[in-house]
Amino acid sequence: MIYLDHAASTPLSAAVRTRMQHLLKEEFANPSSLHAPARAARKVIEETRELVAVALGGRPDEVVFTSGGTESDNLAILGAARKRRSIGRTKVVVSAIEHHAVLDAAAALVPDGFEVVLAPVSRDGVVEIEALSELVDDSTALVSVMTANNETGVIQPIDEVQEIAHARGALVHTDAVQALAWMDISPHAADLVSVSAHKLGGPKGVGALLVRRGTKLEPLVHGGGQERGMRPGTLNTVGIGGFGAALDDILGNRPTLTSRVSAFRNQLQNDLLKLGGVHVSGAKAERLPGHLHVCVEGIESDTLLVLLDAASVCASSASACSSGASEASHVLKAMGIDSRLSRGALRLSLGYSTQLADVEAAATAIESAVTRLRVSK
Ligand code: PLP
Repeated sequence: MIYLDHAASTPLSAAVRTRMQHLLKEEFANPSSLHAPARAARKVIEETRELVAVALGGRPDEVVFTSGGTESDNLAILGAARKRRSIGRTKVVVSAIEHHAVLDAAAALVPDGFEVVLAPVSRDGVVEIEALSELVDDSTALVSVMTANNETGVIQPIDEVQEIAHARGALVHTDAVQALAWMDISPHAADLVSVSAHKLGGPKGVGALLVRRGTKLEPLVHGGGQERGMRPGTLNTVGIGGFGAALDDILGNRPTLTSRVSAFRNQLQNDLLKLGGVHVSGAKAERLPGHLHVCVEGIESDTLLVLLDAASVCASSASACSSGASEASHVLKAMGIDSRLSRGALRLSLGYSTQLADVEAAATAIESAVTRLRVSK
């Protein structure tokens, strides 16, 4: 199997699997209890909390564990907006290329009287800073711009976003779910940062939201007061421990991994360009090293994916949540890519487990599938 869908989810790394197997057996106690086994479980959680804080440039007491990126995004958007309504801030500005976890959470605020405004992006998928600047005003509760896009991998100017938003008293949220595996996001100082374990070799169903000191949120769920009341519920010791093992791996190996994977990605990109009629999305922008998103002329991505699957190549057309929906991607629409071209969208996402042989075999399989589809038209 040639797995090039790391942006959808990564395989569990060996270190994560070993850690989780150990924790499943040993750390069953409720980490909120007071006895020795509970304290051992609590230690696992607090060690991961420190790693998340280091990775995100925050303090351990600013980390709130969640069930993943979707929940972190919802907690950030809904929690911050609802809290700020009482001070007259009822506008939310989000980029047009956000993940649905952000877009749909923002849309859910509209019936409660919030105004939600989409900030446009350039042809290369980068948020237009000037346009964003005109949208943010004194009534803005929150601005949400992702650190890097999940479809194209295009990295966003979050420092500039932050400057604009903070100058007008708005909070900043960034969805760093895709970026965390590849980028040091610790120097950026968004008020709210979402991450998820399964994009970096960790388990699904675990994530975190960094809630910078002084940032107030209305919780989405109510209960036993865990996570300083912001996300009550018994903590998932095994999943959080797995997240910690994944972070341990990433924080030590990121520079080596990044240069290896970007070389593979560039090779794959060059091979695909030789096919002709292949357009790299976000080609002129800075992209995450593992992402390669192309629109291939003269083919339909659904059919291409079926042929690739038959050749044991796992890829996708858009984000995993919307592929299969056969509707044009909102990200490509926002970039102004016409619908005829976006029908041939293909996302190949490389990761820590990708080898040179994978990209060579994938290039051959894609070339043969595209040629077959073009001939049969
Ligand atoms: N945000 C982005 C940018 C993503 O790519 C994803 C997952 O694909 C999510 C949020 C949702 O994360 P999770 O699958 O952990 O809920």
